[in-house]
Amino acid sequence: MQFTDEHERRLARFPVCTRRVAIAGPAVGDDEPRGDVVVETTEFLKRLQVALRRDIDFDGSDEFAAAALPVWLERAKLDVDTVTAVPKPLSSVLWLINVEGLIRDSVAEVFCPDCGRYSAEVRLSTEGREETHSWLRGTRIWRCMQGHTLYRENIELHIMRRAGC
Ligand SMILES: [Zn+2]
Repeated sequence: MQFTDEHERRLARFPVCTRRVAIAGPAVGDDEPRGDVVVETTEFLKRLQVALRRDIDFDGSDEFAAAALPVWLERAKLDVDTVTAVPKPLSSVLWLINVEGLIRDSVAEVFCPDCGRYSAEVRLSTEGREETHSWLRGTRIWRCMQGHTLYRENIELHIMRRAGC
């Protein structure tokens, strides 16, 4: 991904990243989860670089985000122990990151508004699960260890089965 002078000018308008970064939640404009998902900036940069190695054609604003987000993270002031949200114009490539995977690996913490603190232990589950030969339905739910609901989404997956499976 080419990082151009124009990208550099646009990047200069954003706040400098710090030691931890918010990648989902209210800080980046999401309705769900209810609290921010936060990761160590160096760890997030590593994961993003791996994700960007996939051969994806970006265009328009996604092209800028794919080029500039790694640069924004590389330039973080790691000695400043605060959380900075990924700026909106850079957030359009966050779908590349498996947020639940980061939570499962205890790499990410999720803020619980009811507990008033971040939790590294979040339970991920699918409730009301219904499954047939060709689809799976349910409600994806994340809960903090106190049982507060942090995320809720109805999911429906169509399952491609091959003969013999
Ligand atoms: Zn809680």
